[in-house]
Amino acid sequence: MSHHSETRRLLILGGTSEARDLARALGERTANGDRRWSVISSLAGRTSAPEPIAGDVRSGGFGGASGLADYIATERIDAIVDATHPFAEAISRQAAEAASATGAKYHRLVRPPWTPEPGDAWSPATTVEEAAGQLPAGAAVFLTIGRQQLAPFVTRRDIRLVARMIEPPDPPLPDSVEVILARPPFTIEAERRLLADRRIDVVVTKNAGGELVRAKLVAARALGLPVIMIERPADQLPADATTVAGILALLDHHDV
Ligand code: NAP
Repeated sequence: MSHHSETRRLLILGGTSEARDLARALGERTANGDRRWSVISSLAGRTSAPEPIAGDVRSGGFGGASGLADYIATERIDAIVDATHPFAEAISRQAAEAASATGAKYHRLVRPPWTPEPGDAWSPATTVEEAAGQLPAGAAVFLTIGRQQLAPFVTRRDIRLVARMIEPPDPPLPDSVEVILARPPFTIEAERRLLADRRIDVVVTKNAGGELVRAKLVAARALGLPVIMIERPADQLPADATTVAGILALLDHHDV
């Protein structure tokens, strides 16, 4: 096993289940005497009660690419795993830029997008605005895109909106919007019941990928409901790995 002086510093940019899983896996290695990596996880600090993360955690923005570069230098970070959400564009761009400015390695971990299966009725949208524009008047809409980009839907006064998110938006939504506060994972049965109870006509979601929030798509298929699928940003940085195991393998081959 590596001598302690060979320990390298890893910054995990998080806010996803993959980031938590990676921190846990590396924490278990360290507990078992493998000292190759010392890890710090970073959160944007958006949720007031984030799910627990193994090991050291810091929270809040760095102050753009230059702030992150300063952080990398001060904390002597050797490598970054960018495990942020596929729709979190700014932080990924900034992390790649800060890594190349400082010489730190940059590895991007992104889960694969969902792809439609037989029986799915998806229509793609490239932006939230486009998705909102596709909704027919009078539709009852189940919206699961978080709390940051709700305006184009809320301003459609001719639809009935049920919006699910982890924490309520600030400022609050008008009373006409039903807000469901809940944290994944969700079961297919519970999603089916929710869609049926609210008499939903159409589901709107982002192509986040992953298993934790996939159940709504299976439930929509079972009920024959259409899904408006907001596609991932077009000019994304390529993924270096799509699983935690894949990123661990990359870290194991990290050049000294
Ligand atoms: P974003 O637009 O890419 O980032 C906005 C700013 O937030 C960044 O410029 C950075 O501030 C700060 N930031 C973002 N992620 C950070 C991290 N892990 N650690 C420290 N600072 C971070 O991101 P976003 O879409 O608002 O997402 C914020 C966080 O929520 C991300 O960590 C992401 O993984 C998670 N998340 C996002 C979504 C989504 O749909 N967008 C869904 C689930 C989870 P500075 O410029 O000051 O450094």
